[in-house]
Amino acid sequence: MIYRPFGKTGKSVSVIGMGGMRFKKEDYAQGDYTRAVAVVHKAHEMGINYFDTAPGYCDDTSEKIYGEAFKTMDRSTYYVSTKCGLWNARTAKEGRKMIDQSLERLGVGTIDFYNMWSVKTLDDYREYLKKGGVYEGALEAQREGLISHICFTTHLNGEDIAKVAHDDIFEAVTLGYNAINFAYRQKGIDACHDAGLGIVTMNPLGGGIIPAHPDYFSFLKQGDSSLAVSALRFILSQNKATLAIPGFSTVEEVQESVLAAQDLQPVPDGYLDDMAAHLTSELNSLCTTCSYCDSCPEEVPIPKLLDSYNMHILSGGDDQQMFARMKNHWGVDPELAAKCIACGQCEPLCTQKLPIIERLEYIANASRH
Ligand code: SF4
Ligand code: SF4
Repeated sequence: MIYRPFGKTGKSVSVIGMGGMRFKKEDYAQGDYTRAVAVVHKAHEMGINYFDTAPGYCDDTSEKIYGEAFKTMDRSTYYVSTKCGLWNARTAKEGRKMIDQSLERLGVGTIDFYNMWSVKTLDDYREYLKKGGVYEGALEAQREGLISHICFTTHLNGEDIAKVAHDDIFEAVTLGYNAINFAYRQKGIDACHDAGLGIVTMNPLGGGIIPAHPDYFSFLKQGDSSLAVSALRFILSQNKATLAIPGFSTVEEVQESVLAAQDLQPVPDGYLDDMAAHLTSELNSLCTTCSYCDSCPEEVPIPKLLDSYNMHILSGGDDQQMFARMKNHWGVDPELAAKCIACGQCEPLCTQKLPIIERLEYIANASRH
């Protein structure tokens, strides 16, 4: 494993971290976390020392799974990152409750990296920082030794990320960055790097889209490495992102991802331009199945339908591939798209700023033919 300094935090983190939102439901739903804990332990055994989680992940059990795993891990050998969103808390007092809850679930005395979660707009940023707001609660907890570093996670565009980075409020950033969306996010990465922030890249495999479309993304392949490993190397070999945090469901996925940290070579000049030449602007419009939109009052399964719509884009308009993805991968009926009443609630939540309503309308119409 390779370790890098994490911005100015004074900590050194593994270039591959573990995202905690992809534990398998069958590995935790019955309250027995044994298999999920084994995934965390395998990651730790292979040198991973950065573990990311959040309240709400995996039906609100991710923090508890980590808590169970941490019981037998030496506290000096790993760091834990968790989060508080504006939907969890608006005031310092409410924020403090979330911190106390995470500390208890994780079974640790200090949270190493505490994130103001999902800053999607500069208004969100101001809301976190307002007098008596969540950031103030985090600062108080930091003074008490309950938090080591205050960070943020964001889906802002590059220019707005640059503004936040230069305010010098946070010590690290977590942002979505991968071979699909890098052109859109590069400015933000560069700004955070210039500001000396630790940089965590989430969604490094595009929510599984990259390994699921080997033909389309074959240009990423490096030698004999798998596409997943090549996609991680794409991020890590640029040396700007400190680490990538793929979400792991199985021990095998841990073992594969860790291969990306071997023999990391710096990228040659012009590499990013070459990569960009392979990508169309449409790829910035792929759904990453992040599920931030998944609270439709009409119970439209938006992430599953929008992920399937990716096949429409990636196949150049072959709706049969889109329907096959719905049926075989997700087990959803395309006619569910017709339940959308265009209330508009989901679109502002979309991290990729996708025209969700328009796409659902397309799916609904296509399913009638
Ligand atoms: S716009 Fe449609 S899909 Fe989005 S939340 Fe409203 S009803 Fe659901
Ligand atoms: S539609 Fe947007 S918010 Fe919803 S899962 Fe896809 S990318 Fe995420």
